[in-house]
Amino acid sequence: MNFTNHLSKANAADALLKRFLSYVSNWTTSDSVAADNGVQPSTEQQWFFAKLLEEELKSIGVSDVTVTEHAYVCARIPATAGLEKVPSVCFLAHMDTVDEVDGRNVQPQVHKNYDGSSISLNGGTVLDPEKDKFLAESAGDTIITSDGTTLLGADDKAGIAIIMTGIAEIISGNIPHGELEIVFSPDEETGHGMDNVPLEWFHSKQCYTFDGGHAGEIEIECFNAYKAEIEFKGRAMHTGTARPDMVNAISMASSFVQMLPPCERPETTDGRQGFYAPMEISGHIESAKVVLFLRDFETDGMERRISTVKQLAAAAASQYPGGSAEVKVTQQYLNMFQKIQKKPLVAEILKEALLKTGIEPKLMPIRGGTDGSRLTELGLPTPNVFTGGHNFHSKSEWASLSQMVCAEEVLVELVKLWATQKK
Ligand SMILES: [Zn+2]
Repeated sequence: MNFTNHLSKANAADALLKRFLSYVSNWTTSDSVAADNGVQPSTEQQWFFAKLLEEELKSIGVSDVTVTEHAYVCARIPATAGLEKVPSVCFLAHMDTVDEVDGRNVQPQVHKNYDGSSISLNGGTVLDPEKDKFLAESAGDTIITSDGTTLLGADDKAGIAIIMTGIAEIISGNIPHGELEIVFSPDEETGHGMDNVPLEWFHSKQCYTFDGGHAGEIEIECFNAYKAEIEFKGRAMHTGTARPDMVNAISMASSFVQMLPPCERPETTDGRQGFYAPMEISGHIESAKVVLFLRDFETDGMERRISTVKQLAAAAASQYPGGSAEVKVTQQYLNMFQKIQKKPLVAEILKEALLKTGIEPKLMPIRGGTDGSRLTELGLPTPNVFTGGHNFHSKSEWASLSQMVCAEEVLVELVKLWATQKK
């Protein structure tokens, strides 16, 4: 499906493009190691962007804006007179970009009236419509890419541009609304995006993150996510006189990884299938550690995975007499579906907002987690909305301007629909 008819909403399209291009040129890469060590924001450069967004919110007429000590930009817009009693709604997007791909000195390229052919960028990066059906459908659209040497940062600066532009339209157009809240957060890509979210600040009992992909896609379901750390213990000996006493923890760890079912890896699964993802292996003869991510949409599926990991770790260790394995499992986030089901209105209104903008909602089980899944767990049901960004976390990341306009229209419709609800 092609969304270029939405480009005729020229004011929003121009404002979105201008904002988006300025946001992506800000370097906001987060640092997962620092974030794992409890530093937030994990990088200094996120402070700079937070301050810039604070200033911009003030300039579009939002007076109640604060940046918390952990760099959350929190803004509140009082309800229009007479609508003080309708429910408050909060919109969120994240400021950081992933640290696996260079996000410094992003040089966005605007492909106006894209002709549908293959796009060759620097560094051998190619966007091939024959391999990317959404790109193939985007002829006539305005496409934005990086220059090929960095990521673009549509994840999630498209979300920030959508929220900023939607809110500016609501304020300047005097569109009646209940109380509105906005949070731009740091460090989402590190998995720590909601660690220091000021929960007590929220008046809203429901939120929406704008951090998704193709137009129409909305997410109310995500993986259950656990991390397993398996520590293998062996016994070191001089290699020349090792026989028979050496017990090699490296061999145990690699044997364990080989035992994981090959058809249940990230690279061999999609849709609703879960997986075991070896993320890291390190160590020496005495001790070796494997870090594994476990993902499953179902609770009992996750229980099965955890017990499989324990059994395989024990089996790997038992092949090496004298060796041992210890498994530590920690929860990362949970599937938000059940909690969102308990407050169905949040998702119902979202679907209606899409239909009002002429877009068929497509419920996607998200093969990952978002700030929304964490917030949902913390008690605020938070579906995720598309932004028109594609190929996230790569140098071939691209954004569709017409789809960003669609998302901005969805935000305005959400505001209008919530203004008709009772608390
Ligand atoms: Zn994101």
